[in-house]
Amino acid sequence: MSYSYDDENIFAKILRGEIPNDTVLETEHSLAFNDIQPQAPVHVLVIPKGPYVSYDHFAQEASEAEITDFTRAIGEVCRMKGVQEGGFRLISNAGEHGVQEVPHMHVHVLAGRPLGRMLQKA
Ligand code: AMP
Repeated sequence: MSYSYDDENIFAKILRGEIPNDTVLETEHSLAFNDIQPQAPVHVLVIPKGPYVSYDHFAQEASEAEITDFTRAIGEVCRMKGVQEGGFRLISNAGEHGVQEVPHMHVHVLAGRPLGRMLQKA
């Protein structure tokens, strides 16, 4: 499958500085910022700076430097937020069944309260 990236998605606008964000961490290839509608006391979005639609797109086409940077950025966010002890959840929604709202690859870092079971029945 070929991936088509929409330059007008909201995270692309954040990366271009066209709309503000509440930055938690910026690295060479990644940006982490607080979710605008937090669903837990800690709700951070970590995104690669490159134009990737989804996790599988990123895994297929990103460079090793980007993948390493992104993986380490998530770990750094967990340490910055002090969530290792209490625990946390990482989620990356993709496509229609994943109910992805923003078509720029992102990982949600959720923590700060018991998060319940991973999935509810539809
Ligand atoms: P997803 O359903 O995985 O695509 O999640 C997209 C997430 O982006 C949601 O949790 C939104 O609350 C969040 N979001 C949308 N717009 C913004 C924004 N401008 N700044 C921060 N988070 C946003």
